[in-house]
Amino acid sequence: MQTATQLATITCPHCGTAKQEQMPVDQCVFFYECVGCHQVLRPKAGDCCVFCSYGSSPCPPSQQQHDGALGHSPC
Ligand SMILES: [Zn+2]
Repeated sequence: MQTATQLATITCPHCGTAKQEQMPVDQCVFFYECVGCHQVLRPKAGDCCVFCSYGSSPCPPSQQQHDGALGHSPC
């Protein structure tokens, strides 16, 4: 196993603030408050977490659970 968390950069669609955050590997992050404008970001339709929608890389759970098969992942 590798590290327990991975880093990704979330870019706020409202104000453009980018911040590096740690992604938990065993759960999805549904809500993220921007440090710049304090808007609460939520996943876009079809995305399972804010990292998939606004992050620099998709969340680890969706990669592990479906092994390349894209779809609605209930994580
Ligand atoms: Zn913002």
